[in-house]
Amino acid sequence: MCARGMTSRGGRLARALDLHEYQGKELFRRYGIPVSDGVLATSPAEARVAAEELGGPVVVKAQVLIGGRGKAGGIKLASSPDEAETRAGEILGMDIRGHTVQKLWIERASDIAREYYLSLTFDRSAKQPLFMFTTQGGIDIEEVAATSPDALVKLHVDPLEGCHPWHARRLVYAAGVVDPGEQKQIAAIVGKLYDAFVGADAMLCEINPLIVTPEGEVRALDSKFTVDDNALFRHPDIAEMRDVAGADPLEVLAREKGVTYVKLDGEVGVLGNGAGLTMSSVDVVTFAGGRPANFCDLGGGGDAQGVVDALEVITRDEQVRSIFFNIFGGITRCDEVARGILQAVGQMGLELPIVVRLDGTNADAGRRILAEASLDNLHPEATMLDGARRAVELAA
Ligand code: GDP
Ligand code: MN
Repeated sequence: MCARGMTSRGGRLARALDLHEYQGKELFRRYGIPVSDGVLATSPAEARVAAEELGGPVVVKAQVLIGGRGKAGGIKLASSPDEAETRAGEILGMDIRGHTVQKLWIERASDIAREYYLSLTFDRSAKQPLFMFTTQGGIDIEEVAATSPDALVKLHVDPLEGCHPWHARRLVYAAGVVDPGEQKQIAAIVGKLYDAFVGADAMLCEINPLIVTPEGEVRALDSKFTVDDNALFRHPDIAEMRDVAGADPLEVLAREKGVTYVKLDGEVGVLGNGAGLTMSSVDVVTFAGGRPANFCDLGGGGDAQGVVDALEVITRDEQVRSIFFNIFGGITRCDEVARGILQAVGQMGLELPIVVRLDGTNADAGRRILAEASLDNLHPEATMLDGARRAVELAA
């Protein structure tokens, strides 16, 4: 399984920071990728002022961390400041697939002759950045990939070699861009997108649509920009772009405590150590007929305080009815984990049933510590499957 914004790397779950369109465009601008002028607004009155400042027709764009805003009615053209104010009033507060619109990007409207698509992602299987380009932009790229795969040009870049003009030329020719002016502008954007991707430690940079105006000017009309969380220490300015108000409060708490936490929909809280085991624990709970409420990865360390922090995050989720604690001790020592569980139960007065499966380094010592505490809500199990089954029963 792969939850939103998560990947497994070196056994630890890695998180990513998704930027809003206006933030991604700010980065595009820094790297010299042409974008339209715009102003951020959080009220209809501000939208009016923004439209007055920009002059002429504008487009009012919902800033939510989910795609398909146009189809959902979150993007509207406005020909005057009056209309911008009205449209802003309609879009603010709108729910776009679970995301409430709190901010708007008011942008000078563009005339569009053609809509292309350009992206750069990290292809994990090839261990190289991958460009994708097509002249069939604007719509869902999955749709292009499914209905006309030949129109989607893909090209890897060897990171040691870097991006060179021939990469850009190949993309542009293979996609069938014939106008020399367009070829030149797109080639320049390809190089700059690579610079932005590497420079910002991105995992994804997507421009959909990359437009051509009737005058033949090429510009990024949208931006999807995802940065690797583990590189944010190098980019304090980007780290600050994180939209805390738009994020799940428990995910914010987890980040503060250095715990990897992902919210799901069910009743069983899942705690594991290491990405592989944590993901498998989620799968086994599902296999046992239950539904995970969330999952937490203690990582490789897993000292007593780490366990306390993780349990604190997991149990604040009101949907949690039971907890499945699945630890395989390697670097993590099971006796430390057991002490952490007892400490957390004591400190927090936890009454939720906790099923514990300990295996690996110091597992016997860990089990003994738990047995000696003889707490009613602690349920030891020997195997992963039995543990998951028990946790599912206890959540019912
Ligand atoms: P998304 O739906 O979340 O991908 O948001 P986009 O920013 O890609 O906008 C969706 C669509 O709105 C684009 O594909 C364009 O067709 C249209 N659109 C956005 N900005 C403008 C603009 O300035 N002028 C015009 N004419 N259309 C726009
Ligand atoms: Mn788009």
